[in-house]
Amino acid sequence: MAPTSIVPTTNKAQRTAGKSARNELKASATAPSDPFFAHSRLGPSSIIAETYYHPLHTPNCRVPVLDTVPPVRYIWRAMQAPFAFDLEASHGAARACRLTTPHGVVPLPAFLPVATQATVKSLTPEDVTDLGAPMLLSNAYHLYLRPGVDVVQQMGGLHKFMGWDKPILTDSGGFQAFSMGNLTKVRDDGIVFRSHIDGSAHSIAPEDAVGIQEGLGADVAMCFDQCISYGASESEVEEAMQRTHRWAARCRAAQSAEDRQTLFGIVQGGVFPHLRRESAEYITSLDFGGYAIGGLAVGESKAQMYEVVGQVSSLLPEERPRYLMGVGSPEDLVEAVGRGVDIFDCVLPTRTARNGGLFTLDGRIDINNSRYRTDPNPVEAECDCYTCTHFTAAYLRHLFKCGELLGLRLASLHNLRFIIRLMEQMRGAIQAGQYQEFRRVFMERYRPTNEAARLAQFGKRAKAVRG
Ligand SMILES: [Zn+2]
Repeated sequence: MAPTSIVPTTNKAQRTAGKSARNELKASATAPSDPFFAHSRLGPSSIIAETYYHPLHTPNCRVPVLDTVPPVRYIWRAMQAPFAFDLEASHGAARACRLTTPHGVVPLPAFLPVATQATVKSLTPEDVTDLGAPMLLSNAYHLYLRPGVDVVQQMGGLHKFMGWDKPILTDSGGFQAFSMGNLTKVRDDGIVFRSHIDGSAHSIAPEDAVGIQEGLGADVAMCFDQCISYGASESEVEEAMQRTHRWAARCRAAQSAEDRQTLFGIVQGGVFPHLRRESAEYITSLDFGGYAIGGLAVGESKAQMYEVVGQVSSLLPEERPRYLMGVGSPEDLVEAVGRGVDIFDCVLPTRTARNGGLFTLDGRIDINNSRYRTDPNPVEAECDCYTCTHFTAAYLRHLFKCGELLGLRLASLHNLRFIIRLMEQMRGAIQAGQYQEFRRVFMERYRPTNEAARLAQFGKRAKAVRG
C-alpha cells in the first residue's frame, strides 16, 4: 500500500532542508551486509523518504520528521491524519517505528501498562509517566459496567477522568467475555452476559463495542472479537474466527469518529496455520488502522505461540502497527519483537509484582524468599527505577512480609520499569542494527519461568472458563 496522508513542505527553506536530509539518507544507504537482512522485506536500501511533517503540527510549528529520527534508516510514513505510522528502522523482522495519535507519539516497539479500571494499580499517572510509558491500555468492558460511559463522558472523557494526557488504547471486551466464561453467552449478534459486579443482565453487539470506545475517547479502539481457549476443536476455533470476521466488518462500518480514534482489527484462528492465514487475509482486507494478533497466551506452549506470531506477523501489512494482545513476559517480548510485533500489553508485570514476583536480568525472583532477608543489594543491580535506586531487597521483602501497601507500589514500579526499559533497549538495538545480538545476549542470561508450572495454571483457568 502506498504511503498516505503526507503533509508536504510549505516553503522553500523547508524544502531545501528536506532535500539535504534526503541526500544524506541516500548517501548513507548501503546494500545490506548483514546476512540477517536476507529475510527482511525492508532492508536499509529500501529508503523512500521524503520530507514529511507531522500532521498535528500547526503552521507555526513545522519540524521536519527527518530531524527527529536516525536519518539512515527512516523509511516511510503511512495512515490517515491525525494518525501516522512511521517506520524508522528494521533489523530482520524487528521494527523501530512510531505511532502518532491525537494525544501524542508512541515510540515502538512499546509495552502498554494495563489500567483496567482507569488506573494502573497502586501508581499515579505521574509515576507511570516517569517510568517512560508512552501509552496505556484501559478496558471498555469494565468502564462500561462501572462507572458507566456516561460518567466518563460527563467528566470530559477518559483522558481527563483518569488524569492521563498521553495516548490510550481500549480493549473492546471480547477477551473479558472469554475470561468471564460462565457469565457470558456468545451469539451471532453479540454477547449476552451478567455483570460480575451486581449480576445485572447486559448485551453488547459489535456496534455497541465501538460506540462505548468512542464514548470513552480512546485514541485506539479494538474490534469486538471472540477469543477461544487453547484445546478447543478446529471447528470450534473456525466458528469463533468466522464470527470474529463478521463482527470486525460490523465494527468497521460502525466507526463514526475516525478523526479522533483509529480502530485495530484482530486476527484469530487459534494455532491452526490455515485459519490464521484466512483470518489475516480477511481482517487486513477491511483496512484497519492497525492489526492485533488475538487468541494467544491462552494455554498453548511458547513454541506454538512464537510460531503463530511469526506466521501472522509476516502476513500483516508493513505500513500498519502490529499488536500482540495479552503477552508481556520478558522472553516473549524479546521473541515477538524479533518476529515483527510493535505493541504489547499484559497485566503480568503488575500482577506478579503485587505477589512479590520481580523481574531481574537473570529471571523472575520471589522477594518473599528467605534468601533476601538480609540482602543489602537492590532487586536488580542494573535497574534505574525508583525502587532499585533507593531500597534494598531486604527492605522490599520486609514490606511484603508485613503486607505494607508500599511494597506493592515499589514492586509495581520496578517491574514496569524493567519491561519499559527492555522495550527501550530493543528499540535502540533495532536502530543500531544489532537486534539479533541483543536477543542472543538477553536470552542467554534470562531464565524464563518454568513452562510446566505455567501451563498447569492455564489448565486450571481453561477448566474454570469452560466451567
Ligand atoms: Zn528496579
